[in-house]
Amino acid sequence: MEKVDLYKVLEISKEASQDEIRRSYRRLARKFHPDANPGDKKAEERFKEIQHAYEVLSNPEKRREYDEGPRTFFGSQGAGRPGGAGFEDISDLLGGFGNLGDIFGRTATTTQRTQTRGENVTVNVRLSFKDALNGVTTRVGVPVEEGCGQCGGTGAAPGTSPQTCPECGGRGVQSRDQGFFALSTPCSRCGGEGRIIEKPCSVCGGQGRVRKNRQVKVRIPAGARDGMKVRIPGRGSAGRQGGPAGDLYVVTRVEQHPVFRRRGDDFVVEVPVSFVEAVLGAQIEVPRPGGGTVKVRLPAGTQDGKQFRVRGAGAPKAKTDGGEKGDLIVRVGLVVPKKLKRREREILEALAEERDEDVREDLFKKVGT
Ligand SMILES: [Zn+2]
Ligand SMILES: [Zn+2]
Repeated sequence: MEKVDLYKVLEISKEASQDEIRRSYRRLARKFHPDANPGDKKAEERFKEIQHAYEVLSNPEKRREYDEGPRTFFGSQGAGRPGGAGFEDISDLLGGFGNLGDIFGRTATTTQRTQTRGENVTVNVRLSFKDALNGVTTRVGVPVEEGCGQCGGTGAAPGTSPQTCPECGGRGVQSRDQGFFALSTPCSRCGGEGRIIEKPCSVCGGQGRVRKNRQVKVRIPAGARDGMKVRIPGRGSAGRQGGPAGDLYVVTRVEQHPVFRRRGDDFVVEVPVSFVEAVLGAQIEVPRPGGGTVKVRLPAGTQDGKQFRVRGAGAPKAKTDGGEKGDLIVRVGLVVPKKLKRREREILEALAEERDEDVREDLFKKVGT
């Protein structure tokens, strides 16, 4: 038996997302579907391979096992087996082909209905200002539903297995004739599952899944922002009946800094400037978000609220994982002294006489008085 590269079969890269896997699978399955290639044995073989590859790679758990190897995932083994994982969208895919033929077997529709994707799970991760700035690898507790180890996810007590519901024959629905209409209602015996469990597993109570607090390692990129949402595919709750796992969303909650305010990739800092510095101009030292200081040159006659931009002294851009940085915006906060020494007062009084200016002249002009 020859080992087959499942990624090659689906014509995708090892890093392909679930979306890419699905898209490629749909494209290839359409092309090689037996209904589209009547009597073509090669196409049929290829179709089986494609199905098998999709079955493994579309299931994050199986995919991980396959990636980690060395396990015996062989090209032809299990191919075309009905009831495998990952067929949730097969009816949609084959909509244009009419009869599915024997390829999927009779249980295909049942399988497709009872397989459910696991729930997406969202967790918050609290970060200090410093960790958000520098990036950090941290562990978060994620409350998830995991496949039950006792029953292997079937929900049936060890040694037993779920049975096809005798009431609905596994279809999950009951039809009643109401004159001209045929009404379909969920099966009362199995609740629409299509299967019944005679002896439920004692650990999960027949659910096939158990609640766990899973520790997940999350790498937060440098420059993470408050409210940033990171998606980790396949790390949410386990699917039901072999359905794919949901996704994990990690939302960053960054502690507020008493001085630096985030604005996009920039930081804004309000810096007190004395009225003498503002009038005469000065070189001042300003703290940087990551530690240390940066010098800023204020020109003579700097106004209150004036902003200066220090390029590259802001937050690392999370998208570039810290490769590029935003700016530090220095906002001038004019400080007017509340008390003066006698000598200072004399100087300022002399200055007032000297300048003899009317700063409100313009204002009254505009009002039209
Ligand atoms: Zn039933
Ligand atoms: Zn169980």
